[in-house]
Amino acid sequence: DRKIVRVDLDTRSYDILIGNDLLGHAGGEILARLNCKKVAIVTDRNVGALYLDALVESLQTDGIETYTITLDPGEKTKSFDNLIAVVDGVLEARVERSDAVIALGGGVIGDLAGFAAGIVRRGVHFIQIPTSLLAQVDSSVGGKTGINAPHGKNLVGVFHQPDLVLADTSVLDTLSDREFAAGYAEVVKYGLIDQPDFFHWLEKNRTEIFSGRTARAEAIAKSCEAKAAVVAADERETGRRALLNLGHTFGHALEKATEYDSARLVHGEGVAIGMVLAHEFSARMNLASPDDAKRVAHHLKEAGLPTTMGDIDGTLPPPNILMDAIGQDKKVKGGKLTFILTRGIGEAFIADDVPPSEVLAFLTEKH
Ligand code: NAD
Ligand code: ZN
Repeated sequence: DRKIVRVDLDTRSYDILIGNDLLGHAGGEILARLNCKKVAIVTDRNVGALYLDALVESLQTDGIETYTITLDPGEKTKSFDNLIAVVDGVLEARVERSDAVIALGGGVIGDLAGFAAGIVRRGVHFIQIPTSLLAQVDSSVGGKTGINAPHGKNLVGVFHQPDLVLADTSVLDTLSDREFAAGYAEVVKYGLIDQPDFFHWLEKNRTEIFSGRTARAEAIAKSCEAKAAVVAADERETGRRALLNLGHTFGHALEKATEYDSARLVHGEGVAIGMVLAHEFSARMNLASPDDAKRVAHHLKEAGLPTTMGDIDGTLPPPNILMDAIGQDKKVKGGKLTFILTRGIGEAFIADDVPPSEVLAFLTEKH
């Protein structure tokens, strides 16, 4: 029972395969699409310890030469230093333009390895083997790659689309409950953007998605379809792709304010709180009903996610520090802030004229 989602871009398209035991068939799936003799696999220590051997074996069985670069796990890995390390490793492996870089891991590894693949020799092939739920439903699809800078998250990077995405759902069994929930926040996001029916389906099927495989694979495929559609319509984020940032302006500010310390907050958790804040702020601006914000918060909370700033461990920096982070996020135009706001569940829209004073007042109330 394998699902295929095709991402159709102006210039080319690629497949996302979703199913179990894709890791064991990676070699064949790659050779069916690329004529590559060598791959540089980028992974982190956690994922490498669990799945690297199986991947290497599958590739070598199919005659593909492998080279591995293993990094520390965690958001801090998305740094300039590690970009240099990966670029050096890929060059050291003598990966040619017809060869490929493989990201085996979560979004951190995908973003970093994809960036390296996009700049080494002005771009080599890139294959995503996402192992976290977040990476399977979001970061591995769409071609955004990059690292964090001292000024903020994801501020340096390139668009570099993968040639293939292999989402092996069986690897999710070793993901921690916390990371699974964090990825689930991005699944919920697709419902909240423009698919109220999907959100209702998630409300009904949450326990099944967390425990079972059928609903889980369905939720992943549905999320990939949603992302693929948005990316196909707006590959470079000149318009509607920005909707995917629902919850992310607040979320990124919270991540920065907690110093990307995953013990305190991981990306998907920041997005969960951020989505609730976006719904509450929309209600405050008289755009949506406060009941919608409550319903969103209820669902995310049931899924084990934090939903308020008070849920974060330790003292949170004051609202003006969060405002600074929001101002440094890339969604600012001429003094006004761009936020994804909503008129209700599944009715998100891009608001590019949000007054910073309203946001500050809102954050001060919420703090
Ligand atoms: P992550 O890569 O840090 O993975 C989370 C943790 O789970 C890590 O400790 C990792 O080692 C571990 N892990 C991953 N797969 C595992 C498995 N199968 N079994 C056991 N442990 C496993 O974080 P993430 O949540 O996957 O990704 C977050 C990153 O993705 C952020 O940096 C975010 O900015 C980025 N992102 C990018 C895009 C994009 O479009 N490029 C979209 C969304 C998020
Ligand atoms: Zn995200």
